[in-house]
Amino acid sequence: MNPDVLVIGGGNAALCAALMARETGASVLLLEAAPREWRGGNSGHTRNLRCMHEAPQDVLTDAYLEEEYWQDLLKVTGGQTNEALARLTIRASGSCRDWMRRHGVRFQPSLSGTLHLSRTNAFFMGGGKALVNAYYRSAEKLGVAIRYDAAVDRIEIDQGQFIAAWVGDERITASTCVLAAGGFESNRQWLREAWGQNERGEWPADNFLIRGTRYNRGVLLKQLLQAGADAIGDATQAHMVAIDARAPLYDGGICTRIDCVSLGVVLNRDGQRFYDEGEDFWPKRYAIWGRLVAQQAGQLGYSIIDAKAAGRFMPPVFPGVRADTLPELAQKLGLDGERFMQTLNDYNAACQSGNFDHTVLDDCCTVGLTPAKTHWARTIDTAPFFAYALKPGVTFTYLGLKTDASSAVHFDGKPSANLFVAGEMMAGNVLGKGYTAGVGMSIGTAFGRIAGTQAARSALREEGHHANA
Ligand SMILES: Cc1cc2nc3c(=O)[nH]c(=O)nc-3n(C[C@H](O)[C@H](O)[C@H](O)COP(=O)(O)OP(=O)(O)OC[C@H]3O[C@@H](n4cnc5c(N)ncnc54)[C@H](O)[C@@H]3O)c2cc1C
Repeated sequence: MNPDVLVIGGGNAALCAALMARETGASVLLLEAAPREWRGGNSGHTRNLRCMHEAPQDVLTDAYLEEEYWQDLLKVTGGQTNEALARLTIRASGSCRDWMRRHGVRFQPSLSGTLHLSRTNAFFMGGGKALVNAYYRSAEKLGVAIRYDAAVDRIEIDQGQFIAAWVGDERITASTCVLAAGGFESNRQWLREAWGQNERGEWPADNFLIRGTRYNRGVLLKQLLQAGADAIGDATQAHMVAIDARAPLYDGGICTRIDCVSLGVVLNRDGQRFYDEGEDFWPKRYAIWGRLVAQQAGQLGYSIIDAKAAGRFMPPVFPGVRADTLPELAQKLGLDGERFMQTLNDYNAACQSGNFDHTVLDDCCTVGLTPAKTHWARTIDTAPFFAYALKPGVTFTYLGLKTDASSAVHFDGKPSANLFVAGEMMAGNVLGKGYTAGVGMSIGTAFGRIAGTQAARSALREEGHHANA
């Protein structure tokens, strides 16, 4: 039996869509490319959701109003956002948590050391893996049919109308379809083409690591764009973090992040600093360091701290390289000792004494140094010294399908009547560039729920129409 609604993907956006479609009364089939044990895509790696709220709630302190959320989004995207869709996402984030709880999601207050998010972000008890598992359990209970190892290779479209999806040789038809198959961050060839070759003759993307799932290869995104679906965003824009260079190629997740950048200095392979490590609070800056490191030779950076920084940041899963002297540290990192020491000596000499306070934009800064370190600049002089090699880690890409408040895919400016999109595949409508923590799940939850509802209504309408005819 063909379902009313076909949902392609198996992460947060797909599950929200499947649950809403089922609640609206449609029969639903969900196709997840991954095997069951790897189900859930990038959503399984998440920890929290950014939520607007007008007063303290269970796990959220104080208030975070629509306007402040919107201003935060406006700032990080530099205006590359659709205000109507952004506000729709923000408002939905204020009311979705009761629904999430009904499907088994539990929340907990943010832990200390988690980027100071207790006011703005609701944390999932057990993380994204627990959220995804709760949604799968609820979907099964409600009768959503679920298939794993079911990567859709292509879909058939006729004049902007969904006709069928292909999994290998199998053709699956449905009245309506929700695309929620993630971005193209795991398609290394596409990343390579998008980033091209730099002035040093390097292909920077060859040195990128993928923080999440290996299954988001953008197969359907590419096909849709080739078939004339309207695009949004730029293929080089993505959420990119500087992560531990020892992280695995896929699925290293949150524990490979290196959060001590603002407490020390970062050098490139030539032993030189290249950016103000203390520009702003780490939660507002962590997502620019992936791109900064991507621009350096070999796409490598080295975060250097001394004993004074220990215990002041969330420790990564692997210990750093440790040495009792700075020259020994340079040697262990394989960096030119002379240049390394020149940079450290210049930096130490430029640090002005001030009142160090990592919780405010303090007055510890360098003078006469380029680039300056504008806050938390303390001399690096107390053994033991630690270093972490950094590589760019891609979280998710922003190139996607243009949509509107109904989450329909657009062809030549016209919304499709039966093809909808949610999550990373359309996040670029709200996030043209930049990032603010927790907004990925806000977008996926808001548009996943809309897409599921719309897909179900449109399928049931069509059936009603046939029944009456
Ligand atoms: C390490 C890490 C930490 C993060 N932390 C947070 C956080 O705390 N808060 C936050 O808001 N965001 C966070 N994000 C971003 C967040 O994961 C995404 O914004 C969100 O999960 C996107 O949901 P999605 O459903 O669109 O994609 P995904 O969850 O990636 O789901 C895509 C699904 O589609 C499937 N798929 C792909 N291609 C096909 C195909 N051809 N056929 C069938 N299925 C297919 C995949 O297997 C996968 O199940 C994090 C991301 C990473 C990698």
